[in-house]
Amino acid sequence: ETITVGELAERMKKPAAEVIKKLMLLGIMASVNENLDFDTASLIAEELGCTFEKEIILTDEEKLFNDVEDAPESLKPRSPVVVVMGHVDHGKTSLLDCIRNTNVTEGEFGGITQHIGAYRVRVGDKKITFLDTPGHEAFTAMRARGALVTDIAILVVAADDGIMPQTIEAINHARAAEVSIIVAINKIDKEGANPDRVRQELTEHGLVPEEWGGDTICVEVSAKKGTNIDQLLEMVLLVAEMKELKANPDRPAKGTVIEAQLDKGRGPVASVLVQNGTLRVGDLVVAGTAMGHVRAMNDDKGRSVKKAGPSIPVEILGLSEVPEGGDVFYVVEDERKARAVVENRKFKEKQERQKKTTTVSLDNLFEQIEAGKMKELSIIVKADVQGSVEAVRQSLERITNDEVRVNIIHGAVGAVTESDVMLASASNAIIVGFNVRPTNGAAEAAADADVDIRLYRVIYDAIEDIEKAMKGMLEPVF
Ligand code: GDP
Repeated sequence: ETITVGELAERMKKPAAEVIKKLMLLGIMASVNENLDFDTASLIAEELGCTFEKEIILTDEEKLFNDVEDAPESLKPRSPVVVVMGHVDHGKTSLLDCIRNTNVTEGEFGGITQHIGAYRVRVGDKKITFLDTPGHEAFTAMRARGALVTDIAILVVAADDGIMPQTIEAINHARAAEVSIIVAINKIDKEGANPDRVRQELTEHGLVPEEWGGDTICVEVSAKKGTNIDQLLEMVLLVAEMKELKANPDRPAKGTVIEAQLDKGRGPVASVLVQNGTLRVGDLVVAGTAMGHVRAMNDDKGRSVKKAGPSIPVEILGLSEVPEGGDVFYVVEDERKARAVVENRKFKEKQERQKKTTTVSLDNLFEQIEAGKMKELSIIVKADVQGSVEAVRQSLERITNDEVRVNIIHGAVGAVTESDVMLASASNAIIVGFNVRPTNGAAEAAADADVDIRLYRVIYDAIEDIEKAMKGMLEPVF
């Protein structure tokens, strides 16, 4: 059980530099991202006048989410989740609309289909879930976030146009995700439709049609006329059956946020796909940095439902904030732990953001001042003799102008060390050295943490550089 220096500082609402300093006094060299064991963390917390509860700080996400493997006997068949991909204008949207219109209303009560990012259709006594944002961009964006939601991709290729650049992209994305591909050769009603040419081109991209001895299922369809759509759906079910898709409905739900937005009247609304377990009204859900008890759930026909099992998309209300598409959601039991995890994630996000907002250097100082990000330039001074440290401190502090104040956060005699770099990194400071050099470790650490170390022989040069940097007039050094 560990906690990083940065997390500990955040929980205590203290600057990370303060924690790092305390650790140094204990003889421990640690960077912001260093993991501390519980004993050290609690010692530091006490030193800084804080107490904390072990379980809150040291939350183990895996344990919280109880993400245990399901026993084989608990698994039941689930319906497939399908995405439609292909080149622009080849008919993805038309196909999704056609499938929805011919298969949803039939035999089902309830209103008009609602857009909740996915819908289900009934085929015989089976169901299929379609993600209704076509294209591989959304699909891949979700996958980039670690969400593996789809089982089967329908690759739409217009019979009058053949394989195009985005068709190839789609093939590659589906392959990378290890998703089964079924080809819908579309627009066969059109004059100039040439399905065999499509088959030929598919072969060139490693998808050999079944009728030509390969294992790629191709169905000739017309999304416009509704031709062979039933056959296409049958093929989806066939492939799904071969994949033996299963899930355990008798456990707390886990799944993926398909899309989410802030609704004026209803607050944060998230469309989620349950992938395992059963989601119920009242469940406490954590999704990314959002959490909350499910207040209400609606299915893809706009009907209010009390529960949703595997492969079922629902819209949920009750989250504290709007999660992001691709966020994994979990049902959790312990509210305090859930809160701790969410806080931890928010902290990590913030840290990521801060990482992206570059650390200060003399080269970007002016930019940061202009952007209003810098009100204070923190500097660490290292010099060969104490007299120089003091002299430098005084001259540098005098540079302070209207926009920026120069603040010497640390000054000492000796080489620039790793701990100087850590302090600089934690405090967004630059290091100025006079007649000293960085140790090997320090040079490496500075490169890693993007800390600017400037070495000088003459105080005047340092002052000049910093003054220029503050005015955006520093010549870049290469
Ligand atoms: P997407 O960009 O892949 O979503 O393609 P759309 O579904 O928007 O379709 C692009 C155009 O092709 C539209 O004008 C559709 O009406 C037309 N279209 C789609 N499917 C068919 C079809 O089966 N036959 C014919 N003739 N036109 C189609």
